[in-house]
Amino acid sequence: MRLILLGPPGAGKGTQAQRIVEKHGIPQLSTGDMLRAAVSAGTEVGKRAKAVMDAGKLVSDDIVIAIVSERIDAPDCSKGFILDGFPRTLVQADATESMLSAKGLDLSAVIEIKVDDVVLADRVAGRYTCANCGAGYHDTNLKPKVEGVCDKCGSTHFKRRPDDNAETVRTRMSAYYKETAPLLGYYYAKGKLHSVDGMAEIDTVTAEIDAILAGL
Ligand code: ADP
Ligand code: ADP
Ligand code: ZN
Repeated sequence: MRLILLGPPGAGKGTQAQRIVEKHGIPQLSTGDMLRAAVSAGTEVGKRAKAVMDAGKLVSDDIVIAIVSERIDAPDCSKGFILDGFPRTLVQADATESMLSAKGLDLSAVIEIKVDDVVLADRVAGRYTCANCGAGYHDTNLKPKVEGVCDKCGSTHFKRRPDDNAETVRTRMSAYYKETAPLLGYYYAKGKLHSVDGMAEIDTVTAEIDAILAGL
């Protein structure tokens, strides 16, 4: 199963991707996570990406395409993968098509998580993750069962992203509407687009996605 999750920052892509990983055993390929790892490691790519990410703008297509193209060749992707946060431009979408067809693969579905803009700033501002295992949480919407302790791994260390602030969110939302939203029409025309109501409770969104995946 090869899936793409589409939606603005804070829509719930990462949250739902983590659940699909648990259920279907295919990896989540988050270009945001991969880029943040490159920034922490201080690689050449990380150095080029850092300022762009901090400003909430999109990293250049050739960088992210190269990262994804290499990643999907890894053995753990042989049964499929979830692309979270990629493609984000029409150039990236076309590159995805070429990458997959060169390997004789195709896309199973594109799932759009639809949300009202008004909730996005709050979702992003309240977001944090486990520093050890990456599990995602929210200050009010999704707290760990025991305060300060990760449900998944028991770690007591959490982190927040430097770009999860109100000002950067506005730039990221503009980038979404300008560069990424055109992909909705692109995938609709290919008969691949499915949409779920991302305003619903997290579990309800998961159930909607499950129903789509069951029908593939
Ligand atoms: P994205 O990967 O699309 O940027 P995330 O999955 O990181 O978004 O979600 C952003 C924040 O909103 C997280 O803190 C998450 O816990 C919370 N969240 C995700 N889905 C929902 C939902 N359906 N209702 C309320 N909060 C949600
Ligand atoms: P969110 O979960 O809020 O949607 P991501 O973690 O996916 O954010 O992305 C964080 C930042 O990483 C983006 O603002 C952008 O600078 C960069 N980035 C991630 N994926 C891509 C991509 N496919 N193309 C260009 N830039 C990207
Ligand atoms: Zn954890």
